Amino acid sequence: MTTIDTLPPLRDVIATHELSARKSLGQNFLLDLNLTAKIARQAGELTQCDVLEIGPGPGGLTRGLLAEGARRVLAIEKDRRCIPALAEIAAHYPDRLQVIEGDALDIDPLSHLTPPIRVAANLPYNVGTELLVRWLTPKEWPPFWQTLTLMFQKEVAERIVATPGSKAYGRLALLASWRADAKIAIHLPPSAFTPPPKVSSAVVHITALDKPRFDADAKTLERVVAAAFNQRRKMLRAALKGVAPDIEDRLIAAGLKPTDRAEQIPLEGFCALARAVAAT
Ligand code: SAM
Repeated sequence: MTTIDTLPPLRDVIATHELSARKSLGQNFLLDLNLTAKIARQAGELTQCDVLEIGPGPGGLTRGLLAEGARRVLAIEKDRRCIPALAEIAAHYPDRLQVIEGDALDIDPLSHLTPPIRVAANLPYNVGTELLVRWLTPKEWPPFWQTLTLMFQKEVAERIVATPGSKAYGRLALLASWRADAKIAIHLPPSAFTPPPKVSSAVVHITALDKPRFDADAKTLERVVAAAFNQRRKMLRAALKGVAPDIEDRLIAAGLKPTDRAEQIPLEGFCALARAVAAT
C-alpha cells in the first residue's frame, strides 16, 4: 500500500500494460513507491529543478520524483511498451512530465531542459556507466547537471567512491573525485527489484563542484589515468611508458616515485603528473 499518489500500484500498471521484464533491456523494476520516493529525496531539493530521468520503465522512480515535487521531469525510455504507462503519469501531473522514446545514448536532452538540472536514474549498469563517464567528462565545467543520483550494481558503486590503496580504486573514482563529491546514499538488496537481479545494488549521489579540486588538463589527466590503470599491477614507469618518452623525469617532476603503482597514487598526484606530462 502506498500513499505517494493516487495512481494505480505498479504491479497493476505492469499487468495492464503487459510490461513483462526484458533481460535485454536490463529491466529490474522497483515496485515499492516508498522506496522510489526515498531515492528521489536523495536527489535533493527538486521543486526548483528540472530532473532528467533515464530509463523510467513503468514509472516507479518517475512517480517518486514528481511526488517529491520536481518542477519538471524529462524521462527518456527505450522500451516503447512503457510509453502508454508513462502517459498516464503525465496526465496525472499536468505539464510536469515529458517522455521521449529512444536510446539515452543517442539523445541530447539539453534542449528540453531548463537549469538548474538534476539527473536521476535506475539504469542497466553498462548504460549507466557509459552515461556516467560522459556526464563526468563534458567539454566544459561546471556541467549541465548539479547532481547525479544513480543506481549501480554494488561493485560499480564501490568503484565510483573508492579511495587510494583499495582494489576498487581506479579511473571511475578519479574521474568522480576530480570535479565532484560522490557518496553511496542507499544500499539495496536484490529483493528490492522485480525480478530480482543476481547482485546487490547501491544508489550513488554525485554533486558537481564549481571547479576541479586540482589543476590539470582534462584530456591529459584522462590519458594518464587510463594508461596507469590499464596495467595497474605494473610500476608507473612501465605502465606509462607510452605516455611520454621521458616519463621517469616527469614522474619525479610531479613528486611521484617511478616505482609506485597506480592504486597508491591519490588524485593530487595524478593531477600533478598530468601537469608535468602537459608541460613542454
Ligand atoms: N526506472 C525504472 C525502475 O526503477 O523501476 C526501470 C529501471 S530498469 C533497471 C531500466 C530501464 O531502462 C528499463 O525501463 C529499460 O527499458 C530502460 N533502458 C535500458 N536501456 C536504455 C537506454 N539505452 N536508453 C533509455 N532507456 C533504457
